[in-house]
Amino acid sequence: MTNSTASKSKKTEKLQCPICGSKKIQHDIRPLKLTYRNHSIVVNQPALWCDSCGEGVIEGADHKATREEFRTFRSKIDGSLSR
Ligand SMILES: [Zn+2]
Repeated sequence: MTNSTASKSKKTEKLQCPICGSKKIQHDIRPLKLTYRNHSIVVNQPALWCDSCGEGVIEGADHKATREEFRTFRSKIDGSLSR
């Protein structure tokens, strides 16, 4: 059966999870574990979090929010592991 409802690429006005397609997605700040060289840190990550699959979509501005923290964390590890 051919379904001819060619859904034109609408602009994503309604937020939708790119992983599972759920619309139960919201911008929120949640703890996220980041790992670097077997060390991990938990940061408060702003992102579009999906309530269905639990995945977070981190966009530019959200990424910036934790970038410095993660960078500091990495350099601390790099510093302590410097060979
Ligand atoms: Zn999802």
